[in-house]
Amino acid sequence: MAQRSKAVICREVNKPPVVEEIEVDSPKAGEVMIKLDACGVCHSDLSATNGTIPLPPPLILGHEGAGKVVEVGEGVTDLAVGDSVVSCFVYSCGECRYCKTGRLVLCNDASKAYFTLPTGDLRTKDLSGNPLHIFSGVGVMAEYATVNRKNVVKIEPDIPADRAALVGCAVMTGVGAAINTAKVEPGSSAVIFGAGGVGLNVIQGCAIAGAQTIIAVDMVDKKLEFAQQFGATHVVNPNSDGDPVAKVREITGGAGADYGFECIGLGSVAAQAYSAVGKGGTIVVVGVAKMGDMTSVPTTLLPMEEKIITGSWFGSARPSVDYPRLLGLYKANRLKLDELVTQTYSIDDAPRAFEDLEKGVNARGVIVF
Ligand code: NAD
Ligand code: ZN
Ligand code: ZN
Repeated sequence: MAQRSKAVICREVNKPPVVEEIEVDSPKAGEVMIKLDACGVCHSDLSATNGTIPLPPPLILGHEGAGKVVEVGEGVTDLAVGDSVVSCFVYSCGECRYCKTGRLVLCNDASKAYFTLPTGDLRTKDLSGNPLHIFSGVGVMAEYATVNRKNVVKIEPDIPADRAALVGCAVMTGVGAAINTAKVEPGSSAVIFGAGGVGLNVIQGCAIAGAQTIIAVDMVDKKLEFAQQFGATHVVNPNSDGDPVAKVREITGGAGADYGFECIGLGSVAAQAYSAVGKGGTIVVVGVAKMGDMTSVPTTLLPMEEKIITGSWFGSARPSVDYPRLLGLYKANRLKLDELVTQTYSIDDAPRAFEDLEKGVNARGVIVF
């Protein structure tokens, strides 16, 4: 049954998002409709509103949601009404060579679901009947969303939705970057540039993996306090402590860190991460920079330093395996989710959640429905 729903929408790039009533259609074959309970506010949502991530408005924001299935489309046999689910912001077909080799985030069809369902269809329209795009094929900053079955993972029902939602992006992306992508080794050292929702989870991913030295770099002291709570052993604020690369070298006895993570989305910081990492180390770019942004590395040193530069998308997730693992770690008190949710907002208050994200107020702000 079609549902009336409030949704947070980017109507116009470089304008604050707006909250509107919309209509969400029933799921077709291979789709499910979910009633959202919570959705985190990620910097990528903000990036869609300011053109850093170029997606066409009008666009329903949100890609970090948790809720319950209220309707299943034809052919969906492994989900039922009432199941608790968390969204995935990368569509994986399950059939292409990347999916078949376990690299789901590189799926050849992922780009089909950047702002529509993977079929190219939309089940969302405004009250004038005009179609509304959906961020990352999900658009879950809304009371209801109809999404492809492959864009959700079933979870156990006993986990509070405002916690579970964060596994849909910040936690999977951050912890996954440390554990799945970089494969951080026990006893190693890591530097994390940017201690926002994603960076804090890289920090806790490094801690879970047993890194000995975890250095957080951020311009905001409050973020560095959060960083310590999430496992950082050292913090650096470039505004008061000076050049972060020199600081990292100092902390690591001159060697540089074994791993460097860029969690902001700036080529200049990716270059800092390159320099802060020692010989043979790994640089992981997680932040999404604006189109055209470039980074540079010292070409002469590339061969003799044997550093590895890589990206990490959605924490190199295998969501149906990784979400339950992460939530299991949470239940075992080994993964912090409660501490991430520093503020919740009603959907009507969503524009303020975006302002707070820009100001750097929260570890993660979460909209609860
Ligand atoms: P956030 O706004 O919560 O955090 C960013 C942090 O960077 C803030 O704490 C800010 O103070 C800090 N910062 C900004 N400029 C800095 C600088 N020059 N030096 C040091 N610190 C600086 O954002 P988030 O939600 O954590 O997202 C971080 C980035 O990751 C964004 O670019 C987002 O689009 C991207 N992202 C990537 C993926 C992925 O799959 N790779 C997934 C989600 C988000
Ligand atoms: Zn995100
Ligand atoms: Zn695929």
